[in-house]
Amino acid sequence: MRGAMSFCRRMMCVSLLLGAGVSDAAAVTVQNLRIWRAPDHTRLVFDLSGPVSHQLFELSNPDRLVLDLDGATLRGKLPSMDDSGPYLRQIRSGVPKQGVLRIVLDLKQPVRPRTFVLTPNRIYGHRLVTDLYAPDAEGEVGPVDRTPPPPKRSSIIVVAIDAGHGGEDAGAVGRRGTQEKRITLSVATELQRLVDRDPAMRAVMIRKSDYYVSLRHRIALARRHQADVFISIHADAFPKRSVQGSSVYALSQRGASSEAARWLADKENTADLIGGVSLRDKDDLLAKVLWDLSMTKTVSDSLILAQDVLDELGKIGRLHRKRVEQAGFVVLKSPDIPSVLVETAFISNPSEERLLRSRKHRRRVANAIYQGVKRYFRRFPSRVARGAGDNEYVVKDGDSLSAIAAKYGTSVNRLKRVNNLNGDVIRQGQKLRIPVDEEG
Ligand SMILES: [Zn+2]
Repeated sequence: MRGAMSFCRRMMCVSLLLGAGVSDAAAVTVQNLRIWRAPDHTRLVFDLSGPVSHQLFELSNPDRLVLDLDGATLRGKLPSMDDSGPYLRQIRSGVPKQGVLRIVLDLKQPVRPRTFVLTPNRIYGHRLVTDLYAPDAEGEVGPVDRTPPPPKRSSIIVVAIDAGHGGEDAGAVGRRGTQEKRITLSVATELQRLVDRDPAMRAVMIRKSDYYVSLRHRIALARRHQADVFISIHADAFPKRSVQGSSVYALSQRGASSEAARWLADKENTADLIGGVSLRDKDDLLAKVLWDLSMTKTVSDSLILAQDVLDELGKIGRLHRKRVEQAGFVVLKSPDIPSVLVETAFISNPSEERLLRSRKHRRRVANAIYQGVKRYFRRFPSRVARGAGDNEYVVKDGDSLSAIAAKYGTSVNRLKRVNNLNGDVIRQGQKLRIPVDEEG
């Protein structure tokens, strides 16, 4: 390990001193290491007996990362690497000088690392987290992909299913140790099965297994997949164990208005379409007005979707409140995707925890959500396929079916079929669905 510093490409001064325990030499032990693999990064979490200060060095030839932990010792052995993903080859440890524990991550390729510490929560104590991203990754959104997704070729309803929490974030924990992240993924997977079996729908899983996805990245994934609705699934806790029942949330007005400035300030966002309109070439005021219009409509659609889901949940179990609730949850802040957050039950309530542990019940919950989504789209068939998909056209004075068909490259018969028209007569102000041909 000696001389390693001379290979140092870049030293990141992430020396973090937390609390007074650090001065007590060798007082901190590294007790355990967990590795979470997400599609865009690998996360290593070191469990510590207390707060620790650390330095991170990046070395090349061969590529490796060195973590020096001051005043720390290792308890037990580091896990051997079998299926460690695209970045990690192996993990070693050493003692370069007295009072310093050195952890070396041998890499398969250069990475962009990020380290931070986490303070104790209900499940874990002090932790040191190291995330390994691909070098070209940006933030937590993975490799930079600014090319717009291919236009949707059909009016299939895309349902983004977001299993809350994941990885190091276990969410709430029930009295019997049930972790919310496992329940949410299981309900999400059941919902995915139902959605994918429906020929009119397609599911997009925001998280596919046990890893963490940041809240903003959850929104970004739904947008990238041009989701028509976004369903976030949770099972949270409440200090009072007697509190029980399902609830469904939509975004609050305050949450919506506080989002506008943030969204518009990010120039990358405005390159996207908002409800089929690009904000890039609009001046600030107009962009704000268009954004507000889109968000207002999205929140009102979200409230209806939330009520449909809540009504279906009411058929299979107890409701916490009969009415949809509103809050400023980040995952609900897509400006143009109706989004709801379903609190399936309170994991803190012993009888609901028991229910959540039953696969049969999780299936019933998933089915209720699915029925709610179906009900919403029966109500609003035109809500499907925003943007490049089917469009809505408002008939103007002097329009004819054949002129509209010619304009959109479709046939009069097809126009009549998708709009359930019997004759050729259309009237001014009438809304028509303009289909996008499957063949493109
Ligand atoms: Zn939750």
